[in-house]
Formats: sequence, structure tokens, C-alpha cells
Amino acid sequence: MIKINVHEKLNFTPEEKEKHEKAVEETFIVLNSKRFKNKFLETKLSSTEGLTNLQIYEKLMSGYDQLDKVEDREIDVYVEMYYKNNKVVGYTYPTTHKTFLNRKFFKSFDTADIACNLVHEYLHKVGFDHNSAKEHSSVPYAIGYLVEECIRELWHNPGLYEVEPVEVEVEKPVDLPEPTTEAKKLYCKRLWYTFWTKKVCWYE
Ligand SMILES: [Zn+2]
Repeated sequence: MIKINVHEKLNFTPEEKEKHEKAVEETFIVLNSKRFKNKFLETKLSSTEGLTNLQIYEKLMSGYDQLDKVEDREIDVYVEMYYKNNKVVGYTYPTTHKTFLNRKFFKSFDTADIACNLVHEYLHKVGFDHNSAKEHSSVPYAIGYLVEECIRELWHNPGLYEVEPVEVEVEKPVDLPEPTTEAKKLYCKRLWYTFWTKKVCWYE
């Protein structure tokens, strides 16, 4: 599981903050889903630095990047908003985690667009690049687009992004009656949507 840690958000209005937070939450759900992994492995990629799709996926999910060089299972985000009436959506430098976002574009971005940009910039930090802004199959572009596509799918079909039920050791919830027939196994599942805070339990 990978977490997204937003360390710094500078110059954001309350509305921009809210939209960015929603985008981060959706990115978190998508990145940790099986569906994203499956789609990732099938994506045609260029400028892969000699790595297979699985190796790139594992690198992304490890949280390793060129700046902190530890597999901390965290995507570290530092963003600053600015306004400039030009064609630049945003930018970053290789020597910093910080990315800069142009309000002119952010204004019309939905959360899937924001996620696309976030993942694109982060993949630069992980060590992937593109030869031009037209290299749409490069890792930052292709995977950024994939996250965007998955988020749009998540809006219409959230069930696709639920995690597989997993057996976890938990105290039996009080509102769950005992099984009536022979001893059954208790299954509990936590939901990505609530950042693992809520659980659903049932017998099988
Ligand atoms: Zn780029």
C-alpha cells in the first residue's frame, strides 16, 4: 500500500485546497487497487530505463524517489499555486520535491486532471522522463493518463476499486449476530474510501 503525504500546500484558496484533497483521496484509492495494477501491466510504455512494467509499478508503489532514496511507501507532495497568463500548466525541478501549479489551469481542472498531473510529476521524481511533451507513452504521461482514466471510472463504478476481502484479526462488531448454523468464519474488510477507518464484517 502506498500513501500520499501532502506536506505543503502554499497559496491555495479554500476551494482549491478542497479540490486538491479530493484528488489526493481518489489517487490513493486508485493506486492501491488491483484494477490499476492490472491496467498498469498492460500499458504500452516507452523511455522505461530498461525496466519492465512490473518493475516500474513496484518502484512507484515503493515510494522510492531520487530525492529521499528510501522505500517509505509514501508519495511526498509539496505544491505551490501561482498565476501566470501563459500556456504552462505547472513545473518542477529535479532537485526538489516541490511542484508549482498555474491557477489559470487548475481552475478548470477536475480532480482526475489534478491526479494526472500529480502522478506525472511524481514519476519524474521517481526517475522517469520523456523526450518531449508529445511522448505520450512515456512513463510520466502514460501512467498519469491511466490514473486519470481510473478516477473517471471510479466515479461511475466505485465497486471496481474496492479491495479484495481480506481476513483480518478484529474484535467482533457488536451489531453482528452470531452465526445460527455451524461455526462460520468471520470476514472483515476495510474500505479504501474511508482510509481504512471503517470496517464491514460478515460470516461465510
Ligand atoms: Zn513531464
